[in-house]
Amino acid sequence: MTAGLRTPLMLADAHGRVATDLRVSLTDRCNLRCTYCMPAEGLQWFPGEDVLTDAELGRLLRVGVELLGITKIRFTGGEPLLRRSLEHIVADAKSLRTRTGGTPELSLTSNGIGLDKRVSALAAAGLDRVNISLDSLDPQRYAAIARRDRLDAVLAGLAAAEAAGLLPVKVNSVIMRDANEIDVVPLAEFCLERGYQLRYIEQMPLGPRHQWDRSKMVTQAEILARLGERFELRPATEPRGAAPAELWRVAPDATQPGGLLGVIPSVTAPFCGACDRTRVTADGQLRTCLFSRTETDLRTPLREGATDAELAELWAGAQSLKAAAHGIGEPGFVPPSRTMSAIGG
Ligand code: SAM
Ligand code: SF4
Repeated sequence: MTAGLRTPLMLADAHGRVATDLRVSLTDRCNLRCTYCMPAEGLQWFPGEDVLTDAELGRLLRVGVELLGITKIRFTGGEPLLRRSLEHIVADAKSLRTRTGGTPELSLTSNGIGLDKRVSALAAAGLDRVNISLDSLDPQRYAAIARRDRLDAVLAGLAAAEAAGLLPVKVNSVIMRDANEIDVVPLAEFCLERGYQLRYIEQMPLGPRHQWDRSKMVTQAEILARLGERFELRPATEPRGAAPAELWRVAPDATQPGGLLGVIPSVTAPFCGACDRTRVTADGQLRTCLFSRTETDLRTPLREGATDAELAELWAGAQSLKAAAHGIGEPGFVPPSRTMSAIGG
């Protein structure tokens, strides 16, 4: 153990939760402008010198895995494929050893653009799984939501992930009223046919300012009602654990092989009580929740010579103060000042 650490630390909080799943953002930049995430004109990107270097990131990942009990790392952004050194970052993370002597489970949340060209190298570097965002199979509706005409590139990325054996391929779809409610069933059919696991996500107030309107959010109940008109659905018996998705098993029929569909009801049925996550932004700020209104600066102490043990203590201390729940819908709820792409979804 690193000198100076009293006992093995863990990322425990006052509400009985222990974080073992790290979401790390590799960049705040993106090549899409999804309406629920970013304004059309983009955002003021972080200055280059604020973004953690590969070496700084590698050190934080090592502290998280070796000193704090992290067992899963998800790389996100912005668009993590825009980080040219992603293969190197993945290989570095895969060389770490968890407290039980295993390797950390590594996954990527991506819009899929350009994944076809990099997925073999990423899999060889140690990437285990991918979640690809896909909100419509209709090129025009896809382009209206992403504000870029890139559906073909996303589909190529999905097929390549499957071919590279990053299974099960997971697909994320944010469903919005008057935008892609009509895609709920076609997206399910597409994913069931290919064995992809689709998760519908309720839109959260993490996009451009003043854009979110609870009455316009498509709820889990509405999504299930649409699915119920087409499929025979039963709650899945698979344990949910700390996973945010409520899973439903679709019975096979003459046109599709059956499988699992999930809904992430972040707003109407929050899963905060089982949350096992901790987050680091691309500019080195620790956040204990997507909706945190406070952050803990890890980058400055990292650059000013803090030891691994000091960084671990700082991280564990901040995590211990994690709020019990995000509080969307409660009186006085205020969304965080950072939007989704600057946090890392
Ligand atoms: N660019 C990558 C992507 O789109 O998958 C990774 C970053 S993105 C911020 C991560 C996930 O957050 C995506 O699945 C995206 O659909 C979701 N997301 C973004 N803004 C959201 C919002 N306001 N509510 C719910 N989900 C959102
Ligand atoms: Fe980019 Fe992902 Fe945000 Fe879409 S959801 S704008 S792909 S970061």
